Amino acid sequence: MDDTTLIDKARRLVANASRISAFTGAGISVDSGIPDFRSEGGLWERYDPHEFATYDSFLADPSKFWTMGQELAEVILKAEPNDAHLSLSRLEKAGKLVGIITQNIDNLHQTAGNTNVTEIHGNYLRAYCLDCREEYVGDAIHRRVVEGEIPPHCDKCGGILKSEAILFNEPLPQDAMEKAISLCKNTDLMLVIGTSLSVYPAAFLPQLAKNSGAKIILINLEGTNRDDVADIVLRGSASDLVPKIADF
Ligand code: NAD
Ligand code: ZN
Repeated sequence: MDDTTLIDKARRLVANASRISAFTGAGISVDSGIPDFRSEGGLWERYDPHEFATYDSFLADPSKFWTMGQELAEVILKAEPNDAHLSLSRLEKAGKLVGIITQNIDNLHQTAGNTNVTEIHGNYLRAYCLDCREEYVGDAIHRRVVEGEIPPHCDKCGGILKSEAILFNEPLPQDAMEKAISLCKNTDLMLVIGTSLSVYPAAFLPQLAKNSGAKIILINLEGTNRDDVADIVLRGSASDLVPKIADF
């Protein structure tokens, strides 16, 4: 099937569905200027996430994580939602999109206007103190990090702060996973966008939606580990393809 036929087919699935969900990964935010783990010449070539962003390495040396966090904060703080995020927001306003499950920590779905966003890997805009558990919400901590406070310390007790973004080897937030699973069981069409589907258990969620009866449209720049789960695979950039299938 050529690309136009596939896009038409995907548009028809979107038009006929009434409980659409989206499952998104780093690829949806690449056109907003936030690199994914695979982009060449990007942040992650200098900071191997498996070295700089594991839970164990954070506990052993928080400065190492926050040195990477300083560059990441600079990138994330200036990022704006792109046409893919905005299209998903319009789909919610049209009453068709019931929720988004995201692996991203960048808050761009919320900035775009989506209201039901389940973050299974946390959010960089929240941090907490390892000692007294005081919570910090918003970008103030990251602005302090950008200005050189590495690692950032708690205003109350001086303890070290941890971002609420989930690190490798860190347990996933149980409440978010339960919400994600429930959405997968209650959707008739899932748009899987910008994820290599290589991180488990997140990569299992589209399969769960399919097993529960949903159609799956997969949009990604390149082949993923689980293209087989999709009814339609669209190859290309999210900011180009999502509006083509979801805007009416
Ligand atoms: P990934 O890096 O494993 O995969 C991203 C996929 O997106 C790749 O297959 C790539 O081909 C595709 N892609 C790149 N640009 C695209 C575009 N413009 N349009 C469509 N697809 C595009 O990312 P992942 O599967 O999401 O998982 C990696 C982990 O890293 C996740 O836990 C995620 O939380 C984290 N992460 C988050 C951000 C963010 O918050 N923006 C950025 C980097 C990594
Ligand atoms: Zn504290």
